[in-house]
Amino acid sequence: MPVTYTKVEKITDAAAVKEAYKPTHPGLFEVVYAEGDYNSKLVACKPYAKGEVLCKVEGITPGPKKYTSVQIGKTEHIELNSDLVFMNHSCNPTVSLDTDTMTVVAVVDLKEGDNLTFFYPSSAWEMDQPFPCWCGAELCVKNIQGAKFLSKETMSRYFVTKHIQELLNERDAAVAQA
Ligand SMILES: [Zn+2]
Repeated sequence: MPVTYTKVEKITDAAAVKEAYKPTHPGLFEVVYAEGDYNSKLVACKPYAKGEVLCKVEGITPGPKKYTSVQIGKTEHIELNSDLVFMNHSCNPTVSLDTDTMTVVAVVDLKEGDNLTFFYPSSAWEMDQPFPCWCGAELCVKNIQGAKFLSKETMSRYFVTKHIQELLNERDAAVAQA
């Protein structure tokens, strides 16, 4: 399957990138490019009510774990191959990326221009590229390394995929037996 989507990461001329940009989900959401590394973001093009499905996740391809991939099972990872790859992490997320139903769902009421973010550990067990979080949320977990490094109590504040819930259960059962 050909993968035609390329995530433009290091941006030196945001105006030129914007000029060439063709949204993969026109009218639903779009990338706002910013100069620098990892400064771009995905924003809503219209309002969404809490619980509303923004889109189905389509056109995915299996791939190795890397910084752009999303974990969809205990050992399986995929590439999104769409503008969805620009969804940033937040500890106070606005959407969930539900890999069980392959949908993106609003977890708060969204208005046009709102930043679309999800809680990366909701699907990621042990991330390829951990990073310090500066999201500013009151309950920011600070180090985004994957669900493996977070308590069940912390994870319970968020939408959690089936495979992460199972991995958390296995981890805590092993600790209880030790
Ligand atoms: Zn945070």
